[in-house]
Amino acid sequence: MVKLVILTAERCQIVNIITHFGCLTFCLENFEVLSLTDMIYVSRQEHFNAAHKLYNPNWSEEKNNEVFGPCANKNFHGHNFNLIVTVCGEPDPETGFVVDLKKLSDLMKDEVTEVLDHKNLNVDVPFMQGKMASTENLAIEIWKLLENRLSDITSFGKLYSVKLYETPRNFVEYFGPETAGP
Ligand SMILES: [Zn+2]
Repeated sequence: MVKLVILTAERCQIVNIITHFGCLTFCLENFEVLSLTDMIYVSRQEHFNAAHKLYNPNWSEEKNNEVFGPCANKNFHGHNFNLIVTVCGEPDPETGFVVDLKKLSDLMKDEVTEVLDHKNLNVDVPFMQGKMASTENLAIEIWKLLENRLSDITSFGKLYSVKLYETPRNFVEYFGPETAGP
């Protein structure tokens, strides 16, 4: 992934290229900056509780226990999940909002937390069937659910990231699908 970020107005003409390897800075001469946008990132946090287990049915019980440890407990275990969704865009000139956070909260509840709360991810949740019930896979599915509906609540914001905390110290963050490399 390569992102081109224009940092400053035409007086400085500095361009940063952010790559997986770091941030490369160039000073361009004879380069005219056509426009700059006031991109801002707006986030909302919601909460749900859910149970799961990490268990690969193609493996022996011994291998599941070896790889997943207590997370492979056959009778499942629970987490207090925290979900942080970030929307980016320019503020609507009429409201000053990228997205109305009450509407984003309602969307997260309707599409995600009320669907998942007090559920067993392995058993009760249709879109997790046939998948490993990892936090990574759950975050990807949450992205799909929200991206489909975000245009219902904002015409200025796009889904930027889904951050999902499984514990206060273990979390994943998903920025949407990326084009496969060469
Ligand atoms: Zn777990």
